[in-house]
Amino acid sequence: KLYNQVQDLKGSIRVYCRVRPFLPGQSSFSSTIGSMQDDSIGINTASRHGKSLKSFSFNKVFGPSATQEEVFSDMQPLVRSVLDGYNVCIFAYGQTGSGKTFTMSGPRDITEKSQGVNYRALGDLFLLAEQRKDTFRYDIAVQMIEIYNEQVRDLLRERVHFICFIFVFLNVFDTLEIRNSSQKGLSVPDASLVPVSSTYDVIDLMKLGHKNRAVGSTALNDRSSRSHSCLTVHVQGRDLTSGAVLRGCMHLVDLAGSERVDKSEVTGDRLKEAQHINKSLSALGDVIASLAHKNPHVPYRNSKLTQLLQDSLGGQAKTLMFVHISPEVDAVGETISTLKFAERVA
Ligand code: ADP
Ligand code: MG
Repeated sequence: KLYNQVQDLKGSIRVYCRVRPFLPGQSSFSSTIGSMQDDSIGINTASRHGKSLKSFSFNKVFGPSATQEEVFSDMQPLVRSVLDGYNVCIFAYGQTGSGKTFTMSGPRDITEKSQGVNYRALGDLFLLAEQRKDTFRYDIAVQMIEIYNEQVRDLLRERVHFICFIFVFLNVFDTLEIRNSSQKGLSVPDASLVPVSSTYDVIDLMKLGHKNRAVGSTALNDRSSRSHSCLTVHVQGRDLTSGAVLRGCMHLVDLAGSERVDKSEVTGDRLKEAQHINKSLSALGDVIASLAHKNPHVPYRNSKLTQLLQDSLGGQAKTLMFVHISPEVDAVGETISTLKFAERVA
């Protein structure tokens, strides 16, 4: 059964949607969600011409009451295919506050039950590797990087010296190069590559990653919403009978917030950030849309993010674009533009 599901996903691009619940303190009196089925959603919009319902289709829709466990269990075959040597990319897309980080990592006060895809995916790979230990030997290692203003940073670097910290803070030494098909098959060979074998290892690494990601942001200025973060899981498996080696890799990407900023209101650094985000999200959309429509030319070179993922998008690789929307009426403009992005890559 699992094998068949995996076959179905081969070379495919899937698009999922998750609707965040209203948050404590928000009035849930009116929602933009007019209708919701297993694979489609209708959004209430209002304009001069009156009210209407705009409908969008997906491979799967998760409503506000979907649990982290339900969400992961739907993605499990995709995640597991990494151990069979496939490359997988999972993207969380949406405006700031729509629940991308909740899906990928979890809420701020994380519990085992609220753990997101990152933790569950690794936990599940360890479990499956253990089940296959008589026939396969798997080595699993992770990298975690951030792309901010088209610069790549290592999120798993241990900080040793205060001086080093200052340089990092000033963004002096720490931008990394992206290479295509380097010997080890790593597209960012200089980012820390950390072997992991248990969920405890993973929890420690996520803590380090989150700590490093917080550098450079202030309470008023949460940089995490304006950078892409990418957890990459590298898997090498050796068939114990034949000695054959297979490699798979999975990128779990929490994208920068997709909201459009009002160009007349922002200047300086904030404008530069916004331009970088727009550019890289539209480059990602272009790449996925080209793959989905089987265009002969795929424009990977237009952003750091698509360069980074070049070997893992297209070909036999599997992609899941997971868009997130907020139910509030205030957010309807961004909700529609998120759903249009999803429509374009499907
Ligand atoms: P984003 O990463 O897209 O900016 P967050 O994941 O930080 O959004 O979510 C914004 C807030 O909403 C957080 O407080 C988060 O815990 C909460 N939240 C998001 N999705 C859910 C959900 N499905 N269930 C409960 N709370 C959620
Ligand atoms: Mg976030």
